[in-house]
Amino acid sequence: MGKPGGFLEHGRQGPAYRPAEERTRDFKAVEIPLAPEALRLQLARCQECGTPFCHGVGCPLANVIPELNNLAWQERWEEALALLLANNPFPEFTGRLCPALCEASCVLGIHDEAVTIRQIELAVIERGFDQGYLRPAPPPARFVERIAVVGSGPAGLAVADALNKAGYPVVVYEHAAKIGGILRYGIPDFKLEKGVLDRRIHLMEDEGVRFETGVAVGTDLSFRYLQSRYQAICLCGGAREPRDLQVSGRDLAGIHFAMDYLMAQNLKHSGGHVNAAEDIDARGKKVVIIGGGDTGADCLGTAIRQGAQSVMQVEILPEPPGARPAHTPWPMWPAMRRDSTSHKEGGIRRWGVSATRFRGLKDAVSRIDCVEVRSVRHADGRLEFVPLSGTEFELEADLVLLALGFVSSDRQGFMKELALERSAQGTIKADDDHQTSVPGVFVAGDMRNGPALVARAIADGLSAARGIRRWIKKAVGGKAKVEGGSEKKVESVWGE
Ligand SMILES: Cc1cc2nc3c(=O)[nH]c(=O)nc-3n(C[C@H](O)[C@H](O)[C@H](O)COP(=O)(O)OP(=O)(O)OC[C@H]3O[C@@H](n4cnc5c(N)ncnc54)[C@H](O)[C@@H]3O)c2cc1C
Repeated sequence: MGKPGGFLEHGRQGPAYRPAEERTRDFKAVEIPLAPEALRLQLARCQECGTPFCHGVGCPLANVIPELNNLAWQERWEEALALLLANNPFPEFTGRLCPALCEASCVLGIHDEAVTIRQIELAVIERGFDQGYLRPAPPPARFVERIAVVGSGPAGLAVADALNKAGYPVVVYEHAAKIGGILRYGIPDFKLEKGVLDRRIHLMEDEGVRFETGVAVGTDLSFRYLQSRYQAICLCGGAREPRDLQVSGRDLAGIHFAMDYLMAQNLKHSGGHVNAAEDIDARGKKVVIIGGGDTGADCLGTAIRQGAQSVMQVEILPEPPGARPAHTPWPMWPAMRRDSTSHKEGGIRRWGVSATRFRGLKDAVSRIDCVEVRSVRHADGRLEFVPLSGTEFELEADLVLLALGFVSSDRQGFMKELALERSAQGTIKADDDHQTSVPGVFVAGDMRNGPALVARAIADGLSAARGIRRWIKKAVGGKAKVEGGSEKKVESVWGE
């Protein structure tokens, strides 16, 4: 454990942030990781609880947090890294992006402020890269069974990494020009600089994973082709069908989906080509973001950096409480108000507001009719938003960004060829091993669960990789051919 009673001596200290007026002039990371001395005081606060809720309840990846913190406290960094990587293949993503569900369930949080677990995770992995502990480690032998992964977001990367390490030749097919899914094209650089992503992809390539970009499976490449060449296919295509707001005036110019906006900015920032029709820029504009979640917050930070004249973010739900409410007690994730770093940079937020009509000058949006609403939860769980008469107002807007969430997994209908069974929400159904209604075709990440978090997508990818291994092991009767022709027990190659 850290220092006995360390939490009595030291309070919580989170990361620092670059000053808002400086960071809004660029797209570089806003967070400044904790310095080693400050990190040490935070490590001292972790008491290695007997029942670590951070590990068992909070972390979707079940990171072994208390033991990991203990190793870091003892400055056994390489061992700490090995323990971290045992459950989480990409701590450099979660260490930057995770809302830290673990911290919400930290035992210290019952009566004090939680240990800064996310910062410790980030320090362990970044020290690992700095010290050269992370070296390419290709598997000692390769099975002949090949795996195709469709989609290269965090779920696809996790499946590919786990199966490659287990000795399977893996090819990842990605529709976009670059690897990473939402990590690349949705999340702005001020949250995740893309060099962090490239560093991991290079490591995976050096370990033998093959990436094929610019290939839309189902359009450029048929599933029949994949099925003839691969023993298993894992679909990790995400959940990108945006929820629309079908009110009068929706077809006016200047109204866009949030992901299209974020994608254009990420493409421009990485030097990619964005044609005039796809370019959406907030410079000099009055921007209204409809939707109060994280995607909306990313739009807000982006619009401020692009030089918007004004930015407003409206949300239909009421403003959440500022502290943990009674209906989400510890160790649950608290349903409370969260302000992202972008919210501290400018813009105005309003809650309990519904947009009822877009109005325009010529063909372009110029105003939004809005009304304040009261939310009513009915006995059957349905949520109704009741307009409050006399509260109607209008907002000026010449760029409207719709950040209302995502409804299903397949915007372009790529997966039609396979006729997969789906849930009512549009996600792809699968059994406990992640196998879909089509034998040999598996699914992971948002495509299976609906929109979630990076940590959940990674955990789901790892779980799918285990399902695929079990399925192949059964199919080959426990004996598998390795490249070169000899037959080996599956376990001898997996090292289990
Ligand atoms: C704007 C935004 C910000 C977010 N911020 C955070 C955050 O800060 N922290 C957090 O934890 N979570 C965040 N999330 C959620 C998180 O990014 C997702 O839950 C996660 O990326 C899902 O991973 P995935 O691999 O399932 O799908 P995705 O990341 O969506 O990747 C799917 C990939 O599949 C590809 N693809 C789809 N169909 C095909 C096909 N037919 N052929 C080839 N390729 C195909 C797509 O091009 C894409 O690259 C955010 C989400 C959004 C939209």
